[in-house]
Amino acid sequence: MTRGFLQELVNILLDYISKSSQRSSKVLDFHHPHQLREGMEGFSLDLPDQPETLEQILVDCRDTLKYGVRTGHPRFFNQLSSGLDVIGVAGEWLTSTANTNMFTYEVSPVFILMEDFLLRKMQSIVGWSDDEGDGIFCPGGTISNLYSILVARFYFYPEVKSRGMGVLPQLALFTSEHSHYSVKKSAAVLGMGSENVVVVKCDERGKMIPAELESAIVAAEEKGLVPFYVNVTAGTTVYGAFDPLNAIADICQRHTLWMHVDAAWGGGLLMSERHRMKLQGIERAWSVTWNPHKMMGVPLQCSAILVKKRGLLQGCNELGAEYLFQTDKPYDVSYDTGDKSIQCGRHVDVFKLWLMWKAKGSEGFGSQVNKCLENAEYLYDQLQRRTDFELVFKNKPEHSNVCFWYIPPSLRDLPPGHDRDIRLHKVAPRIKGRMMEKGTVLIGYQPFGAKVNFFRCVFSNPATQQEDIDFLLDEITRMGDDL
Ligand SMILES: *Cc1c(COP(=O)(O)O)cnc(C)c1O
Repeated sequence: MTRGFLQELVNILLDYISKSSQRSSKVLDFHHPHQLREGMEGFSLDLPDQPETLEQILVDCRDTLKYGVRTGHPRFFNQLSSGLDVIGVAGEWLTSTANTNMFTYEVSPVFILMEDFLLRKMQSIVGWSDDEGDGIFCPGGTISNLYSILVARFYFYPEVKSRGMGVLPQLALFTSEHSHYSVKKSAAVLGMGSENVVVVKCDERGKMIPAELESAIVAAEEKGLVPFYVNVTAGTTVYGAFDPLNAIADICQRHTLWMHVDAAWGGGLLMSERHRMKLQGIERAWSVTWNPHKMMGVPLQCSAILVKKRGLLQGCNELGAEYLFQTDKPYDVSYDTGDKSIQCGRHVDVFKLWLMWKAKGSEGFGSQVNKCLENAEYLYDQLQRRTDFELVFKNKPEHSNVCFWYIPPSLRDLPPGHDRDIRLHKVAPRIKGRMMEKGTVLIGYQPFGAKVNFFRCVFSNPATQQEDIDFLLDEITRMGDDL
């Protein structure tokens, strides 16, 4: 029965995978929340008192995929994590079959060593020497960024662990206006207050301005705050901008501040010989966030926090629960790394990355990154050529983000200004709504500062081809030319 059931399940997965790669199939089959709640034909969210048959379970599995979004479709441009890597899927499946926990070497000997191995590999790619570097895999970049602040605070104020925030001065953190919201969220979670995160100005291209950082540090000190931490973004979420790492590292050095590099999105570029110079200076970071589940196409979730100074993670988080972390075990208990974590049970996120690395090699990841950035450049070139589109910033993309407006014919002759902005602001959401109904392509939009709603196209799926980019632009035109 088990064999028959799993074989049927494999057929469902194979069918899904094959449809996801067909351009003729929909990216999504959208239904409103009330429709899904009321139940679709043969698919109901209700939980029964009596068990369902295995046949019905298979239908439930198939329909769960059917009404979801095919993030592996070559025309899904909506989020930073996309693609459907079959080796990665195999890794995730094996992980859940092994169903073990990352607490200790005792219960996860192979995965603990793989994690150790991959963390060292990632640290050496960042540029740290063999005798420095520590880290752990986390449930996403948000949590990795949270760790960076937690560890930085512990480094300067180890007493915080037992005595709490009451014994600390009022601390200040610094991050750019284009940085990810997880920095503010972490400051709130850690009891430091989101208002004590000082937001530093960026240039037109979305990069932090070092002189602005320096004056923000001085201003915070004058107000009686104690600066201790700077978050620097390598690959911002919306613009794909890289902050000037070396210039900011100099400032951090001068003021003895913890320098964290959030390379959740940009870290993947380290795998490419062609693009890794955009992260020059990352080796000077005290900690780094890197999400293989974004640019490297590893199935969700897979994110690492790397910390340059060894032992800090353990010192900061260890509590030595005696039912897990006995010190008299019959093996080298330095491999019981679970107490570095703020979690107890921890999912095995490392195996799929390890398996994909085996399957592609470092070079395979590099060419995948190059391909995505070539797609971004192609889109940029097309946009420059067309009069019905406008770029949000003029420079060539540094990452795979391309931000643009579609200008419908009715707006094309309007002079720039408030009236045009008000109308343009409504265009992207209207097109997105039509896109979701039609299901042929999916792309995200947002406003930013004074800029009204614009599209952001991101490439992280190596299955995307130039024809998909042409299709995207033509489809936007078809859906928007009557607005
Ligand atoms: C996506 C992103 C994050 C958050 O990562 P999650 O895995 O979604 O939690 C943090 N920083 C940057 C720059 C990002 O793009």
